[in-house]
Amino acid sequence: MSDHDGPEEGDRPNANDGSDASGRPNASDRPGAPHDRLLLDAMLGKLATYLRMCGYDTAFALDREVAADDRLRRLAADEHRRLVTRDVALARRARGDEGPRPLLLEPHAVTDQLGQVAAAGYELTLSTRPARCGACNGRLARVDDADATRPTYVPDDQSPTWRCEDCQQWFWTGSHWDRVADTLADVTPDTPDP
Ligand SMILES: [Zn+2]
Repeated sequence: MSDHDGPEEGDRPNANDGSDASGRPNASDRPGAPHDRLLLDAMLGKLATYLRMCGYDTAFALDREVAADDRLRRLAADEHRRLVTRDVALARRARGDEGPRPLLLEPHAVTDQLGQVAAAGYELTLSTRPARCGACNGRLARVDDADATRPTYVPDDQSPTWRCEDCQQWFWTGSHWDRVADTLADVTPDTPDP
């Protein structure tokens, strides 16, 4: 998969407040999801978008303006997040830190990274109601169809829609949503070599 297959600006579905009982549970409620609060290093921005679309609370180093290894490790500890990194040396150092063991991802391609994330026990499917903003990890709230503030980049015929409570971007489950679902359906869990 090329870099162009990933989620794009403006057409990023994702969403919902995840709080009512009718839909599927929040990622944080998913049984068996290991350490579902994540912190991804600066090399994993595309992966961050996918994981947010799957409902995981996914902080991203560049969003948080954290680059130095020691600050990343501290942030993971402070927010009880599992560090996910492509940096072998960082993963090795972070193994001694408090909290969940870091997840080292070797591949460059995001589809292969997703395979290793799946192998680590994370369920990678789209929620019926998007929960997290792919752009900033904020929570998404359903928007009333009659909301007069609907921006012009949202197609008129799209419903339901959601809006990020943090960055205010709107989301809907259009064709892009289906493409991401197809990508996730093709993910093959892949355990890295020991
Ligand atoms: Zn946002």
